[in-house]
Amino acid sequence: MTRPPLNRRLAEFGTTIFAEMSALAARTGAINLGQGFPDTDGPEEVREAAVRALRDGRGNQYPPGPGVPELRTAIADHQRERYGLEYDPDAEVLVTAGATEAIAASLLALVEPGDEVIALEPYYDSYAACVAMAGGTRVPVTLRPHEGAYVLDLDELRAAVTDRTRLILLNTPHNPTGTVLTRAELTAVAELAVERDLLVVTDEVYEHLVFDGAEHVPIASLPGMRERTVTISSAGKTFSFTGWKVGWITASPELTSAVRAAKQFLTYVSSGPFQYAVAEALRLPDTYFDGLRADLAAKRDLLSEGLAQAGFEVYRPSGTYFVTTDIRPLGATDGFAFCRSLPERAGVVAIPNAVFYDHRDEGAPFVRFAFCKRTEVLEDAVSRLKRLA
Ligand SMILES: *Cc1c(COP(=O)(O)O)cnc(C)c1O
Repeated sequence: MTRPPLNRRLAEFGTTIFAEMSALAARTGAINLGQGFPDTDGPEEVREAAVRALRDGRGNQYPPGPGVPELRTAIADHQRERYGLEYDPDAEVLVTAGATEAIAASLLALVEPGDEVIALEPYYDSYAACVAMAGGTRVPVTLRPHEGAYVLDLDELRAAVTDRTRLILLNTPHNPTGTVLTRAELTAVAELAVERDLLVVTDEVYEHLVFDGAEHVPIASLPGMRERTVTISSAGKTFSFTGWKVGWITASPELTSAVRAAKQFLTYVSSGPFQYAVAEALRLPDTYFDGLRADLAAKRDLLSEGLAQAGFEVYRPSGTYFVTTDIRPLGATDGFAFCRSLPERAGVVAIPNAVFYDHRDEGAPFVRFAFCKRTEVLEDAVSRLKRLA
């Protein structure tokens, strides 16, 4: 071959760190707190709803392009009941193959080659790849630790906007830092978007995983934002069915049609029977959502305290199921080297946050652990991590 097969746009995205670290976990028998998937499945009644749909022949053939009506209506009801946001299930809701496809389709639909996309760094790994596939240029705005939590520097965000900025790609609650953007921060972002006539694509897959009374505010609910925002969410994290890949967007009719134009040529449709099950899941009583939050808050506390005792500096997350730590108190500075040696040293796998940064130096001393695991697994991990102290 005269030239490498992977095209230049994607050359830097050859393999993900998750594959490397999961292989390391398998090889060493270490506890995998790297990749963020739960080790128990979601509610029995939701699983049964999927079985019923499958048996009744609902969704076994191509579902409608925008998603099955039952699910689109359930999504619209969810946005109205939880956030007071009104969306027409026919024109303003689109079901996707997980949030991952929603992100890809939104960026492919809305970004022209040469457009700049502002994303909060550290960012979810698919953002950079999708901006690249769309031919856009990513412009990171870095969240930095301040008094025990990560915060957005609004001046830096304002300074990042240029005449070529097309959209701001938000993520709240934020993976990997666990930060939940406040109403005041989001209001400032919204004012900037209106002033500079920008679109906002907002990844809210952790909308239900917020702790200590933190409030999840969809930016689409703020003045001037409904018509310029694509809101993305998914069933994976909320219902602990990450393998089902049922996601969605809510947006104005114009934005929804645009995203659908790209989406129809990615997967066309997906997850037929699971769409019916997720329609039922979205109507679970508040006790389900409260129980999920309480369970994860307790796991967050267990792992955070264990990490602190092992010598890490811990940034206590207000949302998501990840905790970011600083390894410098342990005498280390390079998260990659630290994570590669952690299985050997302590029998645990984590992810170096540097992979979520363009400014790799900024991310170097930070390491992410997932706590969406059974309590006994976390207890085992905590006792293993004590070896580091
Ligand atoms: C897990 C995750 C996704 C992907 O969601 P799927 O529905 O599994 O595609 C998107 N964004 C963030 C921030 C995530 O953590």
